[in-house]
This record gives sequence, C-alpha cells and structure tokens, in this order.
Amino acid sequence: QAKDDGRNRYRCYTQDILPQIESRLLMERELRQAFENKQFVVYFQPVINLKLGKGVGVEALIRWQHPERGIIPPAEFIQLAEETGLIIPIGEWVLKRSLDQVKSWLARGIPVSKLSVNVSGVQLKDARFVDKLNQMLISSQFPANKLILEITESILLKASEEVSNRLQAIKASNINIALDDFGTGYSSITYLKSFPVDVLKIDRSLVTGINASSDDAAIVEAITVMAHRLGIEVTAEGVERNEQKLLLESIGCDCGQGYYWSKPLPAAAFEAWLARAEQGE
Ligand code: C2E
Ligand code: MG
Ligand code: MG
Ligand code: MG
Repeated sequence: QAKDDGRNRYRCYTQDILPQIESRLLMERELRQAFENKQFVVYFQPVINLKLGKGVGVEALIRWQHPERGIIPPAEFIQLAEETGLIIPIGEWVLKRSLDQVKSWLARGIPVSKLSVNVSGVQLKDARFVDKLNQMLISSQFPANKLILEITESILLKASEEVSNRLQAIKASNINIALDDFGTGYSSITYLKSFPVDVLKIDRSLVTGINASSDDAAIVEAITVMAHRLGIEVTAEGVERNEQKLLLESIGCDCGQGYYWSKPLPAAAFEAWLARAEQGE
C-alpha cells in the first residue's frame, strides 16, 4: 500500500512543514518590524584585565526587547537575520549604538579601555562594510584602536579573497580583530598565521572545566603560550567562579569575561557596575 501514495506522502510532507514555513515567515516579518520599531537593545558585559588588575573593556551584545515575549537572546534571531540579510542594518545599528555609548562614557570620564562588537560573516561580505565602519568611527569620534571586531572561525574558514582583503583593510585602519569562540571549531592555527588577529577569545566550553580537568587546563595554557608567542592577547570567556579566575591568572591569560564579574547589562546598569567596581579597587 505504500507504493502508490507518493502524492499522499507529498501532501503529508507539505502539511508537516507548512506550520514551520509560516512561523518562519512570521518571525521574519516580526524581525523586520522589530528593527523598524526600534525593539533592539545593546547590553554591555565587562571584560576584565587580569594582568594589570585594572582597566575594563566591554563587549556589546544585542537583545530583542519583544513587546509580548520580553527579552529574546541573540541565539534565537541572529541566524534568521543573517539568512534574510537583515543582519546588515541590524549589525550597523549595533556598531553605531555601541560606539556612541562608549564615546559618551569616555567623554564623561568613565574609563572603558576597549569596546568589542560582534560582526557577522554576512556583514564582512558587504563591499561597503569598511567604508561604513570608518564613517561611523569618524561620526562617533571614536578612536579606532579602542575598537575590537569579534569574528568567528567559520568566517575565516570560508573567507574569500575579498573578505580577507577587507580584514587587512580593517587592520590598516588600526581597528583590532578578535577571533571569537576559539576552541569550538576546526584547528585554527593556520588562521592565526594568515589573518591579522589581535585577540583570541577562548570559548567557555574550554574554560568551564579547567579546575576539574588537567587536560582542559593544559589546552588553555598551550593556547595562551602559543598566542603570546604570536603577539596575540588572550581573553577567557565564561568565567563563573573564583577558582577559574585564579587558575587563568596563573596561566597568564590577559583578560577574563563572565558571570563571575557580571552578566551583560543594559547601559545604565553597566555604568553603575563600573562605578561600584572602581570603588572596590
Ligand atoms: P559571544 O560573542 O561568544 O558572546 C558571549 C556569550 O556568552 C554571550 O551570550 C554572553 O551573555 C555569554 N556569557 C558571558 N559570560 C558567561 C558566563 O559566565 N556563563 C555563561 N553561561 N554565559 C556567559 P549572548 O549575549 O546570548 O550572545 C550569544 C552570541 O550571539 C554571541 O556569542 C555572539 O556570537 C552572538 N551575538 C551577540 N550579539 C551580537 C551582535 O550584535 N551581532 C552578531 N552578529 N552576533 C551577536
Ligand atoms: Mg563575542
Ligand atoms: Mg565568544
Ligand atoms: Mg562563545
């Protein structure tokens, strides 16, 4: 009986997938409207300099403030934004919003050493990206050497010559480049040789177990030594406990980021956190 029901099966398949297509279309429309209605917000998470014992940078992390569903994390919409091309205006907005925010902190004497902004591969494929970036730096009067663009290994894996030249142009503008989520993808040692990387961000999955597993600690230490020999700084992501911080310090990690210090916060709450941290020092 299964023989002649090709059409039925097809119909079944369409019926199964229709709700998915509908919800995707709905989500796409919502995402577009969210941008138009200014429902995105940038949160800021401190990046602590472990070596100097002072100096705090920030990573800008987008959130969707949904009128009914509340705060939606980037994991739930960045991919769709990339697939629809919406990441280009959204990413541009994140950059502008963060540059303006940090610039105004600096103007008010609030010390932020560096600003990190995540950039999607789709943005880097846009031929106008470098020009737009430089224009934003000028209009925000933001010093290029205080900006770090965070990109992932997968971008470098697929990097065309254009993307590669674009990264060189970004570097030539004195902007820093960080390789995000290091240790989650492919062996990336060749990328470090062929791309202008200033900072390596060791992924949380490698940092989590460093106290319990001597293997994980050895990997983090080896990455740190290698990075330093290449003139690259190291930031450990996802630091949640004091013993992780202590071990990372003894390994020689330059910076740490994680809930141990603070979750990502709205701008005003970050400012308050920083004021408290400075008093504590
Ligand atoms: P990421 O760039 O690796 O950012 C670090 C993520 O780890 C953030 O998640 C942060 O909230 C989380 N995190 C930080 N410390 C801890 C910790 O101690 N414990 C745990 N469990 N998590 C910690 P978030 O904000 O949900 O962002 C997820 C990812 O979404 C980011 O990973 C980044 O790849 C992407 N993303 C965020 N904002 C943007 C953006 O503006 N543009 C683009 N293209 N991607 C973005
Ligand atoms: Mg990042
Ligand atoms: Mg990361
Ligand atoms: Mg990560």
